[in-house]
Amino acid sequence: MLPRKLFLPCILLVLGGCGANPVTGKNEMQIVSEQQEIEIGNEYYPYLKQLEGGDYVADPSVSEYVSKVGMKLATASDRPQLPFEFSVLDNTVPNAWALPGGKISINIGLLVNLENEAELAAVLAHEIVHSAARHGAQSMQRDALLQTGLMGLSQAVEGGAYEGAIMQGANIGVGLITTKYSRSAELEADKYGIKYMQKAGYEPEASVTLQQMFVELERQRNVSWMDGLFATHPPSEERVRANEATVAQYPQGGCSGSS
Ligand SMILES: [Zn+2]
Repeated sequence: MLPRKLFLPCILLVLGGCGANPVTGKNEMQIVSEQQEIEIGNEYYPYLKQLEGGDYVADPSVSEYVSKVGMKLATASDRPQLPFEFSVLDNTVPNAWALPGGKISINIGLLVNLENEAELAAVLAHEIVHSAARHGAQSMQRDALLQTGLMGLSQAVEGGAYEGAIMQGANIGVGLITTKYSRSAELEADKYGIKYMQKAGYEPEASVTLQQMFVELERQRNVSWMDGLFATHPPSEERVRANEATVAQYPQGGCSGSS
């Protein structure tokens, strides 16, 4: 019998469950198809938005503004074909999240703490990468594997019933926005987010000042931040330094960075 580590790639290769990540280009397991990512996003976005406070309607121009910035970045992303949507939620807890298929929300509580448009772009670009680089989809696949076991999933894939296996995973519904991604997924979201910022004309330095602000806020142990954004996006000096290094690779200065 093949070792477990080799066995899975073999099954997936035979059954067509492998592919290149659309953002990083790395070969990976791809059980959840793009169509399924879009379906999951469409299905859960309205429900989760409602659960997290509903749309911020006090001033519709706020949502329009965030959508405009978001779409500019989405167009500059590696998957502009996804049906991206951006919304502002009426929730004072500072937070932001992304679903598979490009469905993204930012709470008004985070928005009011941002210094300028470039920092907003840094938040949105980071979330865009979570969608574009299939971080949510990967996490669902892992959950399905844990639940059904390797053999269970391989049989499900073979029988064409893999959608059921994925949907039985624990990471669906609220789990889609409360899941903490791996440290490497967070670094990846920062790195490619900076690329999208630069491409869309924003000053990538904002990704550094934003992380510095998060590190400082975490030091203060503010409950609202700890329960909100930092529960899924722990700030760290490592992220500040990584962003500085990524920013240094790009020429200085965007064209619509501050407002
Ligand atoms: Zn993140």
